[in-house]
Amino acid sequence: MKSSSEEYEISIYLTEFKNRRTEDAYQRHIQNIVTGQLRIVLVIWAAILLLFAVPDYTALGTTRPFFYLLSYRLIIALSLMLVIVNIRPDTDFFKISKAVTVVVFAGITGFMLFFYFRPEVTYWIIGLIMIQIVFLMMFVPIRFILAVAGGLYAVVITMVTNWHMGATPVNLIELFFILMLPFVLGSATAMRLGISQRRQFALLLETEKINRELAIEIDRRRALEHQLKEMASTDHLTGLANRREYEVLFTHEIQRARRAGSPLSVCIMDLDHFKNINDTYGHGAGDEVLRSLAQLMKHKLRPMDVVGRLGGEEFIILLPETNVEQAAIIATRLLDALAATEIDVGKAVIKVTATIGISALLTHDTDFNTIIARADEALYRGKNAGRNRVVIKKS
Ligand code: GH3
Ligand code: MG
Ligand code: MG
Repeated sequence: MKSSSEEYEISIYLTEFKNRRTEDAYQRHIQNIVTGQLRIVLVIWAAILLLFAVPDYTALGTTRPFFYLLSYRLIIALSLMLVIVNIRPDTDFFKISKAVTVVVFAGITGFMLFFYFRPEVTYWIIGLIMIQIVFLMMFVPIRFILAVAGGLYAVVITMVTNWHMGATPVNLIELFFILMLPFVLGSATAMRLGISQRRQFALLLETEKINRELAIEIDRRRALEHQLKEMASTDHLTGLANRREYEVLFTHEIQRARRAGSPLSVCIMDLDHFKNINDTYGHGAGDEVLRSLAQLMKHKLRPMDVVGRLGGEEFIILLPETNVEQAAIIATRLLDALAATEIDVGKAVIKVTATIGISALLTHDTDFNTIIARADEALYRGKNAGRNRVVIKKS
């Protein structure tokens, strides 16, 4: 991967990003501004060109030179119009630059006619050429390198024309220095502008990149936070609520049941002879049984019910808005489903049973421990009575 400094390196001579992709992105970024600006500049150029036919006429009348100059003005103005109508907001900047440069070269070449037809105002013509060089380099938004080529061409062809018209070497040297003035001024300004705009663009890209990275980091941290919260509230083997979580939920459910005056039942479930499974098939098989049982409970119970792992192979189920009789039906259904479930523990496919003790929230209960203690007692009785059954302890 390229380092960002390499990506944003600017060539001073071209006054463009060295990296073509960055330059393209920059061109797309300023496309709208450039095309709009270029249209205005070209319209102004064409208008001035046509307007100055008036002083031509007052100086020359309807002579042959006047018509030559008028033809020149019309041809260039028309070419400019042609470029203007073909500029779209999505036209490639390099293509526009090329088209404008062709017109610039033609315009400068044609402008030399004035030296031949209006020799009495040579200094005016040179002054206008100087203005055109500055105008081209500072205001016509084309590629810097092409603007430089246009400016240099204006200098060279003006000197050649004057030499052709008999200017002395001293005159030509003077002319060279005078013309180089707007050229250097224009080049330096265009270069400074082009480079500073690109530096700003590079800063913008860097900022956007940092923002994107920041957004990704925020997402990552959010996911991590979520994961941590889940890890803090669930039992990692079964994915059920851990002790911390179900204690909070239990307290909450007790308060709610009291407020609403609705029943709340608690089931404690313990797998029968679970030690045998570990001893026969290994601890991994035991874990698999615990996971399967957790899935079964999640599947069979309502979303509002809370299932937690008390520890080992013991589970707690909170059944809001459920009295002990209804809880016994639900518990029996659960045991039936468990009895019908075949669990693949790798080496074998086995079936397990469990015993469930049930109690309900009573008016004198102070906290959940007393309710759990009653359910535990019911469970103990169920174990002693031969296991695989549901036992209720009402008070
Ligand atoms: P009972 O019918 O009286 O409940 O018999 P039991 O064998 O199920 O009861 P006991 O309390 O003697 O055995 C519980 C076993 O559960 C012992 C322990 O090794 C196992 N156990 C506890 N936690 C885990 C666990 O996370 N994974 C596995 N595989 N076994 C566990
Ligand atoms: Mg057990
Ligand atoms: Mg046990």
